[in-house]
Amino acid sequence: MTSSAGKAPASEPFSPEFAARTVRSRALFAEAKTLIPGGVNSPVRAFGSVGGTPLFISRARGPWLWDADGNRYIDYVGSWGPAILGHAHPEVVSTVQEAAEQGLSFGAPTAGESALVSAIQAALPGLDMVRLVTSGTEACMSALRVARAYTNRTKIVKFDGCYHGHADMLLVKAGSGVATFGLSGTRGVPDDAARHTLTVPFNDVAAVEQVFAANRNEIAAVILEPYVGNAGFIPPEPGFLKALREITAAAGTVLIFDEVMTGFRVAWGGAQRIAGIVPDMTVLGKVIGGGMPIGAYGGKREIMQLVAPAGPVYQAGTLSGHPVAVACGLKTLSILREPSFWTALARQTSKLVSGLTEIARTRGIPFIAGSEGGMFGFFFHPGPVRSYAEAKMADGERFKRFFWGMLERGVYLAPSAFEAGFVSAAHADADVDMTLEQAARVMDSLRS
Ligand code: PMP
Repeated sequence: MTSSAGKAPASEPFSPEFAARTVRSRALFAEAKTLIPGGVNSPVRAFGSVGGTPLFISRARGPWLWDADGNRYIDYVGSWGPAILGHAHPEVVSTVQEAAEQGLSFGAPTAGESALVSAIQAALPGLDMVRLVTSGTEACMSALRVARAYTNRTKIVKFDGCYHGHADMLLVKAGSGVATFGLSGTRGVPDDAARHTLTVPFNDVAAVEQVFAANRNEIAAVILEPYVGNAGFIPPEPGFLKALREITAAAGTVLIFDEVMTGFRVAWGGAQRIAGIVPDMTVLGKVIGGGMPIGAYGGKREIMQLVAPAGPVYQAGTLSGHPVAVACGLKTLSILREPSFWTALARQTSKLVSGLTEIARTRGIPFIAGSEGGMFGFFFHPGPVRSYAEAKMADGERFKRFFWGMLERGVYLAPSAFEAGFVSAAHADADVDMTLEQAARVMDSLRS
């Protein structure tokens, strides 16, 4: 620990009192920066877009996180989505312990993998077959490989601000950390790798039609987040997803819903259940692993049969279908299956979002917020926000002040305006009420 760790440099966006309470986090960050690039193992964790230093987390339970100095926060990040039952749900933890006792990983097939795939399939009827992998990045990358093989085409279409992991071809105009840090997304990526990726604005059917007209019989796949969560929270406009389904079907293009974030988060199953649309392929991650590393991609049998060893498209993984992650995911999905779970989760999330909206409205602060199931987002912008371009017009400076005000008052929000927020089943009325009380105080200070 350095002797200067207790003092917040003048440029820090937090108060001296907060600096005094978070000494250990700053010391740990200083050390981590010497060992790990930027001190973190995933960029957005570094708090780059809100300034200051990240909190180091030592434990979590229910809706709460505790930092390395022992301060407690209500958590609306939820490990970036997976923690839908709240942290360290007792039944999930004991399932994980039991699975671990049977051996951590075998590199051989297990019954649990088919059980998890069946559980996913029961919720997402379009998934005739599913391959389990270890991360969302791997799942998106692999799904596109298969879609290209299936169509014998090369080009892919993605939407500005949507993030599908960090594969070379997918970092073009991506959201999340790429947006947060204003990266072009292409350093280190050969032009050739990104050359076949076409991007269009989200919610813009005319732009999609144009790109299809200009690339007739060349587009292998359209990949999208059906509700964008990596450029803030941007829901699809009515009819947008249906239009994509029609355009892609007519063009013989594979429609891929990346439901890594929305799957088992906006609804049982995911956004496709809400929209009543069956994509050709779906990518999953986060909640299906209940907090353990997992990803999955699947879809129509004739497409998935191309994956090795059934077919010629190679894709593999030492830890794929990891037994502990699979057991954790299965247990999590079994608890989520109750319809009453979703009513309660959506009610709590709406209560948070409408409370925040009202607090901003009564203070004359431009603000727009939305939610679906247990996923939400807000912008300091009068709205509407239908695309990444509109999201970028929100007041980033106000977001930053709001973020730090809330953190100092014990509420842990995503440290970027370009990320969605997550409510869990463990967030009780008292937690949301406390959040809104603190938000009212912080927004009072944001009027100027
Ligand atoms: N797709 C979406 C929609 C995501 O939100 C993310 C991660 N936030 C990914 C893909 C990549 O997943 P992972 O971080 O597990 O590689």
